Amino acid sequence: MALSSDKALLCLAGGPAKTLSSPMPSGASLEVSPPPRIPIPHTRRSTDEAWTHHTSGCSSPAATSRLTGGGESSGTSAPPVAHCLHQGYSSRTLRSWQGVAPISPANLVYPLFVTHEADGCEEIPSMPGQCRYGYRRVVSEVERLVHEGLRAVLLFGVVPQSVKDSTGSWADCPESPVVLALQLLSASAVIRSISTLLVADVCLCEYTDHGHCGLLNPHGRIANTQSIQRLAEVSLAYVKAGADVIAPSDMMDGRVAAIKQLLKSEGYEHIPVMSYSSKFASCFYGPFRDAAGSAPGFGDRKGYQLPPGSRGLAIRASVRDADEGADFLMVKPAGVYLDVIREVRNRTTLPIAAYQVSGEYAMLYFGAQHGAFDLKTAVLETITSIQRAGADIVISYFTPQLLKWLKEQ
Ligand SMILES: [Zn+2]
Repeated sequence: MALSSDKALLCLAGGPAKTLSSPMPSGASLEVSPPPRIPIPHTRRSTDEAWTHHTSGCSSPAATSRLTGGGESSGTSAPPVAHCLHQGYSSRTLRSWQGVAPISPANLVYPLFVTHEADGCEEIPSMPGQCRYGYRRVVSEVERLVHEGLRAVLLFGVVPQSVKDSTGSWADCPESPVVLALQLLSASAVIRSISTLLVADVCLCEYTDHGHCGLLNPHGRIANTQSIQRLAEVSLAYVKAGADVIAPSDMMDGRVAAIKQLLKSEGYEHIPVMSYSSKFASCFYGPFRDAAGSAPGFGDRKGYQLPPGSRGLAIRASVRDADEGADFLMVKPAGVYLDVIREVRNRTTLPIAAYQVSGEYAMLYFGAQHGAFDLKTAVLETITSIQRAGADIVISYFTPQLLKWLKEQ
């Protein structure tokens, strides 16, 4: 009898430890007929032990009653019919009925780094396959991906250290790479013809000489009120340049309300805000900081990004941003905060984005490169997990590959 690998594993798992450690001969088939009957000591068997010896179907109700009646079990170990699950996922289509549908290309967002060197294209060493594009060069790259099914990009600016200052003036000055890129992208007939969304990340860390996400007071602490005013100004500049969605990632208190208020007062109340609402202080941002040149010059961001263990704060932050008028919420990173995605999902009707961050990208890429797993299978599994947790939108550096892989499925 041919067994699926899952069933073969089930059989093996029932044996004592020494059976598991027995090496399978090279090239051995998974044909197992009948499965090995492994002697079991004359002790009371657990339900799990009984399960592991079942390979040929479930017991009838009569057999079930014998099995569950106690006293008469002769060692036969077919599980009760009601405990049999294999029939519900025994084909590809049945399996697709059991969980979330494959993500739609429209629900993927591709993060891109934009520089002031108009036609530049520079690979990012810590993120193989990802580049920093010049503000003019990025247009052809996005147009190419739009033909592949891309429907949303998330833009980050990268500027030289020499132009950074205390207020992050290059975030929204006329020479800002994000401003220039938004102007060109929003003028592209290809991009506009398919309503591809231009999402602008809003933060100051890429542009401030101290590398923090807000403005600082003379004591080196975050000046929250001034920070949210400045972030609102930057948001307005991006909207005027062509942004369709504003995505503040700074984690200052009250910035969603400040941005919404300024946009409304300037006649841009139709622009939605995607708040990085539950953003954790994570080591998985390491490659991004290389890519964007945004590492803090001193200290760290633990005073405004969330502590990794803070379930309660994470929920409060998302609920607060929803109350301030956020149109979309976000959990970042995604893969190690799936429980938070689920918790936020259970508390809001707003769409939730999850950001599979640079460190997650690097971990999967390098793991596959070293033979730990197949890249496509692993990435698709991570995306499915993020969806299963409750995310509607996934921001991933794997978006170009995902667009191809989803077509192949
Ligand atoms: Zn920042």
